[in-house]
Parts: sequence; structure tokens; C-alpha cells
Amino acid sequence: MSADSHCHLNDPAFGEDRSEAAQRARDAGVGPILNIGYDPATSEAAIELAERHGDMYASVGLHPHHASMMSPQLAAEMENMVAHKKVVAIGETGLDYYRDRSPRDKQAESFKIQLALARKVDKPIVIHCRDAMEDCLALLRDEGIPKAGGVMHCFAGTEADAKAAMDIGLYISFAGNITYPKAQNLRDVIKTIPAHRILLETDAPYLSPQKKRGKRNEPAYLPMIVAMAAEARGVTEEDMGRVSVSNFNTLFLRGATASQGEITYKIRDSLYINVTRECTNECGFCVRFFSDTLQGHNLRIDHDPTAEEMIAGIGDPADHSEIVFCGYGEPTLRLDRIKEVARWVKERGGRTRLDTNGHGSHIAGHDIAPELVGLIDVVSVSLNAQDAGTYDEICLPLIPDAWIKVIAFIKSARDSGLDVTASVVPVPEKVDVEACRKLVEGDLGVKFRVRAYNLPG
Ligand code: SF4
Repeated sequence: MSADSHCHLNDPAFGEDRSEAAQRARDAGVGPILNIGYDPATSEAAIELAERHGDMYASVGLHPHHASMMSPQLAAEMENMVAHKKVVAIGETGLDYYRDRSPRDKQAESFKIQLALARKVDKPIVIHCRDAMEDCLALLRDEGIPKAGGVMHCFAGTEADAKAAMDIGLYISFAGNITYPKAQNLRDVIKTIPAHRILLETDAPYLSPQKKRGKRNEPAYLPMIVAMAAEARGVTEEDMGRVSVSNFNTLFLRGATASQGEITYKIRDSLYINVTRECTNECGFCVRFFSDTLQGHNLRIDHDPTAEEMIAGIGDPADHSEIVFCGYGEPTLRLDRIKEVARWVKERGGRTRLDTNGHGSHIAGHDIAPELVGLIDVVSVSLNAQDAGTYDEICLPLIPDAWIKVIAFIKSARDSGLDVTASVVPVPEKVDVEACRKLVEGDLGVKFRVRAYNLPG
């Protein structure tokens, strides 16, 4: 499944075959769908569609092209419309300096009115921004966005623009233009966005993906955008689709349809086990401080699973390329359970990996590396820094002399014959990646990996 966060089935372009287009979307595994209003008539039409279709929602807005229409009366009409229970967002609104169909001061005025409405009713804002990024971001900073957040739709900016928008609290939505041969810049940008901040959209009937260019776009073409986004990020289409649905639910439905925390979850062909919620670090970059979800999986479990629960979630180990002990915390806090489950997996011919911060021996009070031999095939240790001071600064460890203990664990795991990789997250202006590489590949003599926190596995 995948979610279309921005389309216009409410547009007259679908006058002849609206129901058929909705069915084609369902047949293609697309849903939920958010139909976006861009003037009073299309906002009404979006609400009517939402009333008829359980998997559709509506947004009420006035596009910057029509900003000259804004008046106190229209603002009041919009406020009435947004009270509808299936109106889940305000917009699209924003600034469009590419076509300049309304004077720029009118665009800004209309944008501010809709932002104020979104803040008042606390529904997310849907932003259209074309050739106006600087003014758009400045206006958003000055005015403030609703607590519910918002989305920069059909993103076409730079990595820095995306970061600035995320710092304000926005999601970044990618459309069919990401499939265009000349859009390598967008494929590069999407790689840098944390998974919990990405939305996908068709913007139908506009902006058809490459394979349908020149034809009317429709929500059923969303899987082409999902496929390109997945390829750019190095995940499967299933992973990318799940991310789009999870984030749609979080932003527009306030997590109302969110699943319970998952004990086991699949990314690519690996099966991860969410061993614990607790950790002996508080890394500033850790996704658990920003989101309940990782690659579209809800990892906010309400208890640390027993060995039996983990085994029940694995099923047949042969169905997965590896079983990874991981989680929203440090798995070696539950070492006995890991060993029990790993033994069960190995007896059935499966492969195992442990993703750890390397504090396990401190936690256990003795060197645990020899105990992992025969149970764990690969150990991935988050070294994270070139020295103890930097480690303390970025990982905020809750144990003393943590970096020294991580180094000691890596050495012991290596000497025990385990296949060890030490990794770092390239935190800007803190982590010296080349110094870490030298330390890991030279002094420690194990494999080295630079990882992005939003792309685990
Ligand atoms: S060690 Fe891992 S789980 Fe723990 S805070 Fe750091 S990134 Fe998060």
C-alpha cells in the first residue's frame, strides 16, 4: 500500500471518470488519498468525495494563483468548511513566483490568513511553494505553523531548503517530478530526509511520472513514484509504501490508525527484533527522540518482549536473510533473551546480527563477547566518535568511560572471532569520519561503515 498525500480527484479533469480513477487507485494499492482544495468549489468537491469514500480525506484551501479572491467572507466560509470531520488539513496555500498569477502581496496575505486558520483549528498546513523558497520559509518562521505541523508539497528545492523546512516542523512531499531523468537533484535530496518526514504524492491531474508524461496524471500512478523513491533511498518498494502510509496517518490522521508497537519488523529482506525501549545512551541524533516510527514501522512498544514473543514474531528464520537484534534502545540490556532467541534461530539455520552500542560488557559486569560466539554471526557496533570527548558530547552516555568500553568491546569481539563492523553517524562539525575510519580499519582491524540514522539496516 502507499498513500497519496496530495491529489485533485476533485478537479474537473476527472469529470468523466472520477469513480473509475478512484477504483484504479485502489486496484493499484493506493490509499489513503488526500484530495486538496485550491478554491471554494474544489474544496467543497474534496469534502463530497471524502464523504463518499472511506479512504479519502479533504483539504480546504486557496491556491496562491487564486489569492486575489481572498476576502473576510471567503475566510469565514473556509472556517465553516474545515469543521467537517474529514477535512484533515488547510491548503494548498503558499507562494508561487513562477507564474505570479496573483500579486505577491495578495499571495502573502492569503497565505497568512490560511496559516492563522490552521493554527486556530490545529490542522496541518499544505504548502505550495514555487520559485519562492526564501520568502516562503521566512513567512513561515514569522507567522508560525500549527502545532499539528504541515507539509511542503511537491518539493523541488535543495537539501538545505528541505532541512530548513523540517526545522520549522514540516514534512517533505515528493511528486512525479522525482522520476524525471533530469531530476537527479531531487533523488539526491530524498536520500537525506529522515524516513519519518517523507510523504509521497501524485499531484494528479498534474505532473505525471516519467512513464505517463504527456498524459493526465492520476493516483493509480503513485507506485511509479514509490518505486523511484525506494530506488533512490536503497529500500524496497514495500518499505517506501509503508513509510508513505505511516507518515500520512501520523500527520493527517494524528496517528488515529497507527498500529501498536511492533516487536518484529521487516526492512528490505532483514527481520529486525525490537528488543528493548531502554538505552544506556541518549544520542542527540537518535530517531526514538523524534518519532514513533522507523521506516514506517511503529517501534513504540509498551513492554520489552519476552523470548517467546520474539520467537513468535520471527516465524521461520529461513524466510529472512538475517535476524537482527536491535530496537528503540540497547539490546544487550536483555542479553539472556537475545542468547535464547539467537540459539533458537541458529538451530534452524538462520543468520543473526546484533546491532549494539557496545556497552554490553559494562551492563553484564563481565566480557560478553565470548558468549556471543556461535550465536551471533555479525556484530555491528556504534562507535560514533573518534575520541571519548566527542562520544560524550554526541551520545550523552549514562555509563562512565563509555567510549573506552566500546573500544574494549570491539577488540574483544574481534579477538573472539566474531565478524565485527564499527559504524559512525557523520554528525556535522563533531564526527571526524576519516579519523574514525583510521582508528577502526587500522588500530582496531575491523570493518568500518558510515551510516545514516534514517536508513538503518
Ligand atoms: S545507542 Fe542507539 S538506541 Fe541508544 S540512544 Fe544512541 S542511537 Fe538511540
